[in-house]
Amino acid sequence: MTVLQLAPAPRDDHPHDGDKTGPEPIVALHQRVADFDLSQRDQERGEEAAFQAVLHADAVLTGSFPDTLDTVVQAMSWTGHPPVPGAQLMASAVTYLGSADGQRGWWLHYTRREEGFGEGGDLVHVLTLIAPCSCGTYINVELADEDHLIVLLDELDTEPGAPVDCDYQLRIRASSYADPAHASIETPF
Ligand SMILES: [Zn+2]
Repeated sequence: MTVLQLAPAPRDDHPHDGDKTGPEPIVALHQRVADFDLSQRDQERGEEAAFQAVLHADAVLTGSFPDTLDTVVQAMSWTGHPPVPGAQLMASAVTYLGSADGQRGWWLHYTRREEGFGEGGDLVHVLTLIAPCSCGTYINVELADEDHLIVLLDELDTEPGAPVDCDYQLRIRASSYADPAHASIETPF
């Protein structure tokens, strides 16, 4: 405990000697730091970010897709994924929408992306519809809004959950950053 001295006090080069039983702050600090496992803290932060992504994904459906996605996607169906710093990927969440053949299905993916730079930069919500393509790959379509989704599904003449035609407009509409090559044959999640 430090006491503010208003009157001149006798000079003491070791002010804490004698009035404290614990170690000096610098010693205590080193002891604290030795207890921390940074990789474990990173992992905890990643899990927290994944959880936040799930909450954000659900909120985006409620706020921006109230009459479509929000009515069919259960809040509990999302799976959160921690950020991938090396790949510049922020935390994300994904939910399975179903499949016509039980093998290659449709997915909904949520993440955030930085737009703009510096102090004017902003984190925007990015919702992407992932559909199997008849050529064996997956198509990513970033959903602009609910109207976009309605038009897009309206134009499909394939069965719900079925792969879309490779030359279908869906592909032309795919302006997504995620899979511009339209070449991934891996199951997305
Ligand atoms: Zn294709």
